[in-house]
Amino acid sequence: MTMLPRTTRLAPSPTGDLHLGNARSLLLCWALARSEGWKVILRIEDLDGSRCDPRWEQRIIAGMRWLGLDWDGPVRRQSEDRERYAEAMRTFDVEDRIFTCPRTRRELQAAAEAAGAPHESGRNTVSTAEMRPEDPGRFTFAPGSGNHRLKIEPGTVRVRDLLTGEHDFDLASRFGDPIVWTRDDRPAYQLAVVVDDLEQGITDVVRGIDLLPSAGLQQEIAKLLGGGLPKWWHLPLLLDPEGRRLAKRDGDDTLGAFQEQGIPPERVIGLLARTCEMQEDAKPMSAREFVEGFDVEHFRKWVRRSAAAGGDRLRATDTTDLMEDP
Ligand code: GLU
Repeated sequence: MTMLPRTTRLAPSPTGDLHLGNARSLLLCWALARSEGWKVILRIEDLDGSRCDPRWEQRIIAGMRWLGLDWDGPVRRQSEDRERYAEAMRTFDVEDRIFTCPRTRRELQAAAEAAGAPHESGRNTVSTAEMRPEDPGRFTFAPGSGNHRLKIEPGTVRVRDLLTGEHDFDLASRFGDPIVWTRDDRPAYQLAVVVDDLEQGITDVVRGIDLLPSAGLQQEIAKLLGGGLPKWWHLPLLLDPEGRRLAKRDGDDTLGAFQEQGIPPERVIGLLARTCEMQEDAKPMSAREFVEGFDVEHFRKWVRRSAAAGGDRLRATDTTDLMEDP
């Protein structure tokens, strides 16, 4: 029997230029893979046509190359072959796990408010089991006929993360019955990511800790599709000096902007290496040097400290220091 190589993926969504936090997660995923001899796939998660733009895809790929990251084989785009996602929907259909949701998000919100549910602004209202259509008859996958939701049964799911330990998630209360195929006729992220991870033989998922709860849902979806689970490595987030999450944007502190301003990529990597305690100062280094200095045990210890502190803050002078003449 031949052993398949361990495989990870770089999976950016082309919804904006990469900021330092995105760059750090991609760099760490790549460095871990390269230092362990894993295969790396580049997958562009471009299904959401209203938010994705090929212009961003070009910027992101150029930015990753500029940093010195590489990958094995051709770039995969989720938009290129949607049939495999439809196939997964048919599996759920056979299992009677999907239904077409008659309600829009706004209607759900109104129903939740009418029921006295505390309104948390910015958080999507979940569609609970009580909100499933009353008619218990079977629904079939009919793209374009409305949001298709996956029925989530009550109970907790345990995610074993190799960096941050074990976490239990109550999927029904966190996600309700999540949308797996949208009313504008496209597979939703939670479905597409699992189908691709299974199909592309992803053994190790390395990404930001904001997706940790999603790992619970993705385990459930993988199980329904009869697939195995990847190993999870969730990374602490890089925060701004005030402790806020960085957001994808079109601004002057993105990789594309650094590139255009002629800042050497080694400076960016040197700064990122400092934020993950690989070095005390931001001494410039290449991606290759970052891999050479990468030590999994040291990495795990840093993640434990950083995750406990809620992430790592950039310093107020970090981006201006990057721009200064050496
Ligand atoms: N495409 C997602 C993003 O850019 C990452 C998805 C994942 O790693 O599972 O945030």
